This record gives sequence, structure tokens and C-alpha cells, in this order.
Amino acid sequence: MNRLSKLKHLYNLKMLGYEYFEGFIVKEESVSMPKDLKKLKSLVKSCHLCPLSKTRTDAVFGEGNPEAKLMFIGEAPGREEDIEGKPFVGRSGQMLTKMIENVLKLKREDVYITNIVKCRPPQNRDPQSEEVDVCRGYLLKEIEIVKPQIIVTLGRIAFSYLLNDATPITKARGKMYQFNAIKVIPTFHPSYLLRNPSKKIDVLADLRYIKEFL
Ligand code: URA
Repeated sequence: MNRLSKLKHLYNLKMLGYEYFEGFIVKEESVSMPKDLKKLKSLVKSCHLCPLSKTRTDAVFGEGNPEAKLMFIGEAPGREEDIEGKPFVGRSGQMLTKMIENVLKLKREDVYITNIVKCRPPQNRDPQSEEVDVCRGYLLKEIEIVKPQIIVTLGRIAFSYLLNDATPITKARGKMYQFNAIKVIPTFHPSYLLRNPSKKIDVLADLRYIKEFL
């Protein structure tokens, strides 16, 4: 790491609540992320830790039941989400809502929905690993606060970054994983289903599998 990246890294840690001590020792126990969703949301809304903050309209924090048993994790906000400041409100959001209501027989407000990164990547490109790393603290805190029993990762990016596992989503779906003792069930991203309606049958099977655990 060169000097500039080191400084940037330290600055990012400071913004996340770490404190510096003599000799730039970072004391991990001093991390002071808010312990409630409302405060965490306002921290995210004013976050400037990565370049995505320069191009976003609004940061998109998770929403839903703060005590949900089921948490959905997508990739990153798209155009509509960036404008409205809410996750999954565009076409793929409508698909996700149908999956929740028609198959799981739950209301959207019963579950918690969030993303791996909270700001829209320009032209909806994949989020870069540095952007994901910077945003990871927010996601981990959301998971810690909500304490879901099951996490459903939507698509390749959410699965691979949450679990640090490069298994292709076509191989990962249909199986159960664990994240900090929470069950993780990967499935396809709703936007992939919009492009490949024939894959709905697989997602239906994944949702039925999820239902067994609720
Ligand atoms: N796609 C995502 O992964 N997340 C959203 O919030 C919207 C679209």
C-alpha cells in the first residue's frame, strides 16, 4: 500500500468510528457504529467514504421490519432507487415484492431489504471491491441489529461478497450456507429473472425451501 492509500484507509477507518493512537495503532474495540437502524441510516445518508457518494442522488439504506426473520440482500441501488432513496423500488423491486407476497405469503414490510453497497454505481456497473469493503461495516451492522434467521442473497454479487465465495450463482443456488450462524440461501437476482423468465422455476423452488425454515 502506498502512502496515499494508507492515509485514505486510515481516514475511512476514522469515519467508521475507529480511533487512532500513538504510532497509528488502530484500536479495534473502539468502533462506535450506531447500534440502532435510525442512526445508522443517517450515517449512511451522509457517507462520503467512497467515490460513489459523488455520483449518487441519494444513499439507499435498508428498509423493512427491524425485527425481520428474513433479510434480502441485493447488489446496489439502480436508477429509481437512487432517485427515491429506497431499495428495490424499480422493476426488479416489483418482481421482488411479487416473490415475497405471492410465494412466501408475507408482506414486504414483514421482511428487511437491503443492498451490499448503498449508493448507485454509475451506469449500474458492478460495485468494485473497494466500494464493497468500505460499505461492508454498514451491512454488518444492519445484520447485527436486525438479527435475521435467514438471509437471502439476490444474485452473484450479493452472494460472493457476503460470503467471500466465488462459486457461480448457478451452482450456489439451491444450497444452504452460513454467515455468523445465520442461514444464507442464495437465489437469482430479480433483474436476472426479468431477462430470463424461464429461471423463475428455480427461484420458486428456492422460495419454497426458504418457507420451510420460517
Ligand atoms: N437492484 C439491487 O440489487 N438493489 C436494488 O435496490 C435495486 C435493484
